[in-house]
Amino acid sequence: MTDRVSPERRSKIMSRVRTKDTGPEMVVRKLLHRLGYRYRLHRRDLAGCPDIVFSSRRKVIFVHGCFWHAHHCRYGRAPRSRQEYWLPKLRRNRERDAENIARLRALGWDVLTVWQCQTGDKEALGAMLTAFLDGEVIRRAR
Ligand SMILES: [Zn+2]
Repeated sequence: MTDRVSPERRSKIMSRVRTKDTGPEMVVRKLLHRLGYRYRLHRRDLAGCPDIVFSSRRKVIFVHGCFWHAHHCRYGRAPRSRQEYWLPKLRRNRERDAENIARLRALGWDVLTVWQCQTGDKEALGAMLTAFLDGEVIRRAR
């Protein structure tokens, strides 16, 4: 098979395939829908193009794959081979995530990162999403 796509481009494609419209993100979206929340997807005008956006609540959710975003969990470990390639790359991803979150917060957005490894336990995930989305409302009501 001939591959006319550069390794860097290929890696970008793969990261999209893994994070958009598949796996963990769909788990979160389905659960949000079941909980009655309405949202927009992938708003490109916002830093980092957040996966799930609640415009009126001014809240966004990123759903991150543990590997690509270098989560501190057992799924987030860098491969043992070619570390000179992977370590700076994964570190850059992590730095970019932190920059995007800082930019969004500076503009008044609340940001929640849901990690892939947190999407297995639906009950805990539902509680986390509800606390994030309705937390302010509950605080105000008191
Ligand atoms: Zn993780």
